[in-house]
Amino acid sequence: MLCIVHRSHSEQLCYKLANMKNRPETAMMSYGYKPFLSEGAVKCPIFMTSTFVFKTAEEGKDFFSMAYGREPSQAREMGLIYSRINNPDIEILEERLKLWDDGEEAAAFSSGMSAISTTLMSFLKPGDCILYSNPLYGGTHSYIHFFLAEWGIESIAFDAADDAASIRENIGDKGSRLKMILVETPANPTNDLIDIRLCADIAASYSTAEKTVLLAVDNTYMGPLWSHPLKHGAHIVLYSATKYIGGHSDVIAGVAVASKPVMAQIKMARTFFGTIIDPHTSWLLLRSLETLKIRMEAAASNAKHVAQWLQQHPLVEKVYYLGFNETALNKRQYSSSGAMVSFDVKGGEAQAFAFLNALQHIRLAVSLGGTESLAEHPFTMTHAGVPVDEKNRLGLTEKMIRLSIGIEHHEDIIRDISNALDAIPVKK
Ligand SMILES: *Cc1c(COP(=O)(O)O)cnc(C)c1O
Repeated sequence: MLCIVHRSHSEQLCYKLANMKNRPETAMMSYGYKPFLSEGAVKCPIFMTSTFVFKTAEEGKDFFSMAYGREPSQAREMGLIYSRINNPDIEILEERLKLWDDGEEAAAFSSGMSAISTTLMSFLKPGDCILYSNPLYGGTHSYIHFFLAEWGIESIAFDAADDAASIRENIGDKGSRLKMILVETPANPTNDLIDIRLCADIAASYSTAEKTVLLAVDNTYMGPLWSHPLKHGAHIVLYSATKYIGGHSDVIAGVAVASKPVMAQIKMARTFFGTIIDPHTSWLLLRSLETLKIRMEAAASNAKHVAQWLQQHPLVEKVYYLGFNETALNKRQYSSSGAMVSFDVKGGEAQAFAFLNALQHIRLAVSLGGTESLAEHPFTMTHAGVPVDEKNRLGLTEKMIRLSIGIEHHEDIIRDISNALDAIPVKK
């Protein structure tokens, strides 16, 4: 142990160092992996196998008992059974994922949507109600309105601007049927904030001895580095790992993090639905996690330059960036301003499209959180399914551009944006 400190403090500091857990960015390179189970390989191999050999029939019987939540005949650790239930790459990935949010357990899925749909189906039954923050990711919004509605699950929405009293008013007499609250914060693409603590209080106030109203937060935009919803009272954190966690725009995956009892129910549903991630994608995500922190920090630092530059441009009407949000809520919930920047150009769709079509380096594509910068038009693309009056109410208009800032040199990103803004035809 290394202790280079003044004598009077040394004992205390050595004690602290010895007892301190590795930080997540340190743990990402090795945590949960035992090299000598894999011929001493420094990195976890990809276990491309559908099924696993049991040493004895008794062992197989016990593994299955445990998979069904029953006690094994003798004390043993759960073992590997079948890759729709468990697999070494998936288990190591889940061990590492839970560290960022300091959660009890994580589950990895084949996509963000499978994490969200499996989690919601784990707890909602016909007749139940779900309360959600507006706007949600388009896929989630459609899932709630077109799929869950068909199963007799009702939904109630609220906006970032709503306070506790108006949310309660929206819930009205449906409180006894309220089973879940799903929140996405910061809201996409406006970066409006939802108070997680306030939602946790609402969830608690509608909980009874018979039912706990669960609060789930889709933390894709700011996690797992800059926001930790479990610390603010959420029960479940959800991710599209396609975004920052994967980080290279080359995989589709999802994650849920929760307490052991909540996760037991989610994992049971995942086994039945078959929405688990595969070993190869897990391995790619293990690789991504090693650079998660430096990637996200580089993107956030670039985003700050871009947002500040946009703020002073004569053709830019408004910039939507967390760094310009001075509220106590922003400070409490987030440790960074993130890497998502939206802005309104002066004009409307024609001006926004002229800008997008003139970009040379930044790709015109939906999605976010990758190493490369992307630009898109929320009104006609990611939020095409949101009714126009709702879009207008949320401040999501035809003149808005959404940028996902990557890890390029910030001056190159700004030069591209600057040239594209110059290409907008000036109205005569
Ligand atoms: C992309 C995204 C999803 C869906 O994730 P997939 O991996 O595409 O299935 C869900 N929520 C948010 C906030 C997203 O950005």
